[in-house]
Amino acid sequence: MRNYLKHYINGEWIESTGNEIEEVINPATEEVIGKISLGTNEDLDKAVQAARDAFPSFSQTSKEKRIELLKEIAAEYENRKEDIVETITDELGSPKSISENVHYMMGYNHFSQAAESLKNFSFIEDRGGHTVMKDTVGVSGLITPWNFPTNQTSTKIASAFAAGSPVILKPAEVTPFAAIILTEIFDKVGVPKGAFNLVNGSGSVIGDGISSHPGIDFVSFTGSGAVGKKVMQNASERIANVALELGGKSPLVVLEDADVEEAARAAVSHIATNSGQVCSAATRVLVPSSMKKSFEEAVQKVLPEYPVGNPREDNHIGPLVSQKQWDTVQSYIKKGQEEATLLVGGTGKPEGVEKGYYAKPTVFTDVDNDMVIAQEEIFGPVTCLITYDTVEEAIEIANDTKYGLAGYVFGEDEQTLVKVASALKAGRVKINDAKADFAAPFGGYKQSGIGREWGDYGIEEYLEIKTILGYPKK
Ligand code: NDP
Repeated sequence: MRNYLKHYINGEWIESTGNEIEEVINPATEEVIGKISLGTNEDLDKAVQAARDAFPSFSQTSKEKRIELLKEIAAEYENRKEDIVETITDELGSPKSISENVHYMMGYNHFSQAAESLKNFSFIEDRGGHTVMKDTVGVSGLITPWNFPTNQTSTKIASAFAAGSPVILKPAEVTPFAAIILTEIFDKVGVPKGAFNLVNGSGSVIGDGISSHPGIDFVSFTGSGAVGKKVMQNASERIANVALELGGKSPLVVLEDADVEEAARAAVSHIATNSGQVCSAATRVLVPSSMKKSFEEAVQKVLPEYPVGNPREDNHIGPLVSQKQWDTVQSYIKKGQEEATLLVGGTGKPEGVEKGYYAKPTVFTDVDNDMVIAQEEIFGPVTCLITYDTVEEAIEIANDTKYGLAGYVFGEDEQTLVKVASALKAGRVKINDAKADFAAPFGGYKQSGIGREWGDYGIEEYLEIKTILGYPKK
């Protein structure tokens, strides 16, 4: 049982000033695996004060010192590998291979990448005629969701540290333990007092408190659009900067010359990885009308490669994170059965499963892009097949969404691949099976958010631009 009833403020684990406790559930077993304290506004005030006190010296640390700190964090993070993998498997229900190869690795890569990006990062630029200086933005408030407990926390913290910004982190209540391990790592390597503060708690108290706190200069939020809007509204009261990483309904455009089975496998893997609880997952698969039948057959053929089951036995698809998420996904599957044709999957738990928030991987076909299941983010193992007749039509359908986080294109002809990739209104487009790149910016167009994370673009989020005229003297 993991019981973490303290917050980490000013370099110490301290008692909460409140007495509300939240139980954390393992979504695979539905059993309680630990507890956290829900913080209060008083706890948050203490954390903000600690961060403000740390600001003058932390923001003035040299680039070399910050690189060293990020490297030390990455090294200690490696030492905690087993704990991180186990913890994410327990709190998120992620299969162990995904916990290791995706969740653990993403956190590690963000700290290492931030150190690497800093090497060539210039905080002062002579632009001939004027100088631009990049100043630390101030104190940052970080609010993160449950679907990637080390990725979203680590990218924000690594960038903030690279920029010299002290932070207050509020992780999601349902998956708080990975953030506890990160805190232990920062404590171990000696992150300066007050530069990192962890206040656990609810979104309505600590999340709302962070977005409206006058002592917090910049808020970086990842989560739903509905909460993103509130965060932005609160921050607008004091004209504070925000970065928002919100949802998506990303298209995967399969071109005429694509390998059908490979493309079908890619489509299925998008809803299998993290049980489809991925903001950048492709959940609208656009296939040429002429390929519809063979694509549907290929989906049915490859789906058994992704079995659903106990994450400890390393199946490919674990449970959804919570009963609430399971209920939401079920209601979308029901809606899909009314609107479109069910190719595979459906409502309820997979056969033989009684405990755990498992959903059936579900693929709908004969989907029109204006249907609810094609427009709203489902955040589960559910995808839609939509047909098109020309590449121009595919681009139009792909962009016909309020979101713009990611896009995917599958095919052979490079000219067409690049034509589609360039036309997609999305922050990140992947051609075929391009590898992940942690130096590449991540973020969305339209209602998928504001700002970019990862690598040097991520560091820029935590900086203010100052122009100096008259220097250097000409
Ligand atoms: P939320 O947006 O509610 O939660 C994200 C974070 O914001 C959590 O830490 C949450 O706290 C916090 N929060 C909640 N309310 C407030 C508030 N008023 N002010 C500030 N912070 C707040 O996402 P959910 O977890 O409820 O998921 C709902 C849907 O959002 C999903 O089904 C999915 O569609 C989408 N989503 C998108 C993500 C993405 O990566 N783009 C990630 C997660 C969800 P707490 O939950 O601890 O109370």
